[in-house]
Amino acid sequence: MRSKSNKPDTILTHAGRAPEANHGVVNPPVYHASTILHPTVAALEAAQKNRYNQVTYGRFGTPTTFAFEEAVAAVQGGHRAIAFGSGAAACFAVLLAFLKAGDHALLPDSVYGPVRGFANGFLKRFGVAASFYDPLIGAGIADLLRPETRVLYLESPGSHTFEVQDVPAIVAVAKARGLATMIDNTWAAPLFFKPLALGVDVEIIAATKYIVGHSDAMMGVAVCTEQSFMPVREMASLLGTHAAPDDCYLALRGLRTAGVRMRQHEKQGMALARWLQQRPEVARVLHPALENCPGHALWRRDFTGSSGLFSIVLRRDIPKPAVDAMLDGMELFGMGASWGGFESLILPGHPERLRTVRPWQDGTLLRLHAGLEDQDDLIADLERGFARLAAHLA
Ligand SMILES: *Cc1c(COP(=O)(O)O)cnc(C)c1O
Repeated sequence: MRSKSNKPDTILTHAGRAPEANHGVVNPPVYHASTILHPTVAALEAAQKNRYNQVTYGRFGTPTTFAFEEAVAAVQGGHRAIAFGSGAAACFAVLLAFLKAGDHALLPDSVYGPVRGFANGFLKRFGVAASFYDPLIGAGIADLLRPETRVLYLESPGSHTFEVQDVPAIVAVAKARGLATMIDNTWAAPLFFKPLALGVDVEIIAATKYIVGHSDAMMGVAVCTEQSFMPVREMASLLGTHAAPDDCYLALRGLRTAGVRMRQHEKQGMALARWLQQRPEVARVLHPALENCPGHALWRRDFTGSSGLFSIVLRRDIPKPAVDAMLDGMELFGMGASWGGFESLILPGHPERLRTVRPWQDGTLLRLHAGLEDQDDLIADLERGFARLAAHLA
């Protein structure tokens, strides 16, 4: 990027582009490649020694991959980024990069479900102990450290329940003990939170969500510091992971408009959250930008905005069939996993099936993604949903 601006919108627009290298074409082209030919033995040997810095083999990336990685690293304030074929692949590779048999890792009780599954079902199988902590623990995490603790994993806000973590306090504990920290920043990326600036070693983003932004590709990315880059890069190679060039292209294309989209998702999400707060069926709205959300003060301190994903907890006396009647007839809110696309979604969440530190006992949790539809239409869709719920109760 020629511009020296550090303003996120300018970086989002210009990073990872070199039109002059591509006939003036604005976007980097999609390079499909496995074999990369080298003209001489000397060139081949030089490439083999330098496989993460130049195009040497398809699995390690093409110019399309590098353009995406360069743009994400620039906007998140990282040294370099590594693209993965999914967000989950990025989470798993980053954990493995800093762990070996005999080590212990701490993860938040609100961690993304498949990461909990990976810790329990994979790490433990290979001799790494994993335990979970209250996401609101802050500096108190020091009391949970064992002599063999090596990794503090963070995710803020937490999946489905949206607790905001005290990242600087946890990072301070980690630094005092020389532990590696990594954070899943999918909710706020790429605009509203910059964890590397707070001293976290690796930032993980499921680019499937807001970066791709159109529900049509799976991508993950790990944004690294100078120190954390090689361990993660080597682990990605050892695992044989690879991000496909077409998907890197889509992710980079999505990144260009992520700023405007996220601000609109924020506006829509806030409007829906405030409307839902007034509903008699809703016991709680879990949205980091609302005053009563656990960790709201930390969100105010560390984030510059909120995205369009949040949850509501229904009154405990509302039974499942009434909730199902509400959800089955939604016209605009789709029901399905993932989020971060242009469209609104609604999905029952089940923290009660996962939580071990503080058992979750509450009414039905519904996770909403506020899409880009007309706000009044979305509210009307929810209102009709509550009417179906009420009809079922009557
Ligand atoms: C979706 C998600 C992931 C996994 O991303 P995929 O691209 O679906 O593999 C990881 N962390 C969080 C917080 C997510 O929401």
